[in-house]
Amino acid sequence: MATVILKPQQEERILSGHPWVFNTQIGQISGNFNPADIVEVKSACKQFLGRGYINPKSNIAVRILTQEDVPIDKNFFARRIQQAINFRKKIISKETNVFRLVFSESDFLPGLIVDKYGDCLVMQTLTLGMDNRKHILAEILKEILNPKGIYLRNDVPVRVLEGLALEKMILLGKFPTRQEVLENGIRFIVDIENGQKTGFYIDQRDNRLFLKHLAKDKTVLDCFCYSGGFSIYSLFHKAAAVTALDISGHALALAGANLKLNNLNPKLCEFKEANAFDELKRFSREKKKFDLVVLDPPSFTKSKDKIENALRGYREINLRAMQILNKQGILVSATCSYHINDEAFKQIIQKAAKDARRTIRLIKWGMQAQDHPILLNINETSYLRCLIAEVL
Ligand code: SAH
Repeated sequence: MATVILKPQQEERILSGHPWVFNTQIGQISGNFNPADIVEVKSACKQFLGRGYINPKSNIAVRILTQEDVPIDKNFFARRIQQAINFRKKIISKETNVFRLVFSESDFLPGLIVDKYGDCLVMQTLTLGMDNRKHILAEILKEILNPKGIYLRNDVPVRVLEGLALEKMILLGKFPTRQEVLENGIRFIVDIENGQKTGFYIDQRDNRLFLKHLAKDKTVLDCFCYSGGFSIYSLFHKAAAVTALDISGHALALAGANLKLNNLNPKLCEFKEANAFDELKRFSREKKKFDLVVLDPPSFTKSKDKIENALRGYREINLRAMQILNKQGILVSATCSYHINDEAFKQIIQKAAKDARRTIRLIKWGMQAQDHPILLNINETSYLRCLIAEVL
């Protein structure tokens, strides 16, 4: 096994449990290796720091899998996956059969995502180290869970940073790629082949559920609705009417199917294929009012250097939403940009509130659902913030 030796004073972050070793931190590598091999990582004074897989093509050259002196073999991955499953058993209710089973660094399996959609699994291997092991990982998942099948959704742009191609395919079994799932007792169709992400925004589950306290008799505007998550929850919990916007026709078709699937009254829901920025502006100009507005946009920035544009985008939609909310209206406003932290998001909301001359009274500061666990020593694991507030 090759040994990666760090430059002096580069071990602190790793000792605190962060698994990334950047190319720039490496002093020398002794021994031969192939990309994706397991290597040992040591500090400049030869202190053992851990074992992980290597990819010299990536800025993150090594991702540490363990700080212990244990072999990294099939058993190792099986143990980690079983631990991830055990954690989900503690937090997922009987009314839900769609959840994230493995969340990369948060489950000590950097680069691996596994989502469970009923009896099927969707897997993403985002790094070369995990990609080279995808068949072993699928074998383990089959042995532990015996799913109907595993779909590989590797059409994710971050793979390019690892020198990997984008691809998607059935990896194991035979199953329809449209699956019906249950979330908090509500039924959803998930398109695991052509839907966004792995098919569903699983991470918003708890924030959607919170609408059960708030939606009754309300007029709701669900901007960026995708397959109707917040809209369907609102109607399920007796909203008076919903307007659901998305720029994607495919998303709206799924949302329509989900409305039917739950026997909700189609007359109470207007779907609109539109740019939410334009519609919010128009509603504000026309002095249209709603009791509850949901803003759940895609990430406006995946990199630090585009943060200014992102801030402007969040500020604008939040300002518009506040302008069209009735007195004591409810704002549900999310950001899934890791670069916008709690403080930055609070500032965006407060700035918009000041401009709209409204006061924000917080009901809940939501985050990603618990099947996307946050490790306090890895900031990157916390990426979703969801303000639920009264706008006075
Ligand atoms: N709230 C959803 C998830 C939203 S994901 C849920 O609970 O499932 C973000 C959505 O925003 C995607 O469906 C995407 O198609 C849509 N979108 C992206 N840009 C948009 C824009 N400018 N206007 C409207 N929708 C947009």
